[in-house]
Amino acid sequence: MTNEEKLYSVDYQVHSYCSHDGRSSIHEQCLRAVRIGLDEIGFTEHKDFDPFDPEVDYFDYDRYRKEIDDARNVFGSALKIRAGIEIDYQIWFEDRIATYLDRHPFDFVLGSVHYVNRKMLMTDDYNRGRTRDSAYRDYFSAVKDSVKTGMFDVLAHLEYANRRGVSAWGPYDPHHFEAELLDLFACMSGTPMALEINTAGLHQGLGITYPHLYTVQLFARAGGNRISIGSDAHHPDQLGHAYGHAADMARSCGFDRVCTWNERQLTEVPISA
Ligand SMILES: [Zn+2]
Repeated sequence: MTNEEKLYSVDYQVHSYCSHDGRSSIHEQCLRAVRIGLDEIGFTEHKDFDPFDPEVDYFDYDRYRKEIDDARNVFGSALKIRAGIEIDYQIWFEDRIATYLDRHPFDFVLGSVHYVNRKMLMTDDYNRGRTRDSAYRDYFSAVKDSVKTGMFDVLAHLEYANRRGVSAWGPYDPHHFEAELLDLFACMSGTPMALEINTAGLHQGLGITYPHLYTVQLFARAGGNRISIGSDAHHPDQLGHAYGHAADMARSCGFDRVCTWNERQLTEVPISA
């Protein structure tokens, strides 16, 4: 890194009222971003595909693009505003996702696993008939399926299963799932996909990032070379949360750049503290 190079702070997982569970407008999130000194904000509204999900049609692409355009007009060069999407991935509607992404351009696309076979991860319904190990293994296998599609720029909140998994099954130790994690990272290698460090677990009271520090170290050891950072903010108070923590974590694992995207074109920029 040269001395003249600008350091960037970014938040690449942000929600607004364009997501069914958002608690802020795009404009309010951007105001907050400028106030806390972010260089770039990447919106990642939820897009679901399960026809039985009551929120399946909540996301409105045209409304979203209009609100993004309006915010770009207001904030101009003070803030780079990217229009991303967080796709809920399940293998049985993979074709629907592909068709949707063909018809709806975004700056970047997150691939997220929240459900396996229509069951929300680590709920009683999901855990029934599974052991602790198979509950996690089936989750990792679904994440691997999502990576194999090649449709996503970012592997979002890996180990998100812990959000309910820790209370259901006890503390999580990534060493125990090293084989599954290495298998997943082998699948990512040679692709441009980035691993997200998501700080939501820190503000959800679990005290951990998704994924765990050891998992990011493992990713680096396995040859992984791209990192994205996001707070998963659904409210402006959460925006940029623990960015310094995530940045330190990334650097401690050997990553001094973070990914940004514009119309699916990747640029890696130096991470600020
Ligand atoms: Zn998510």
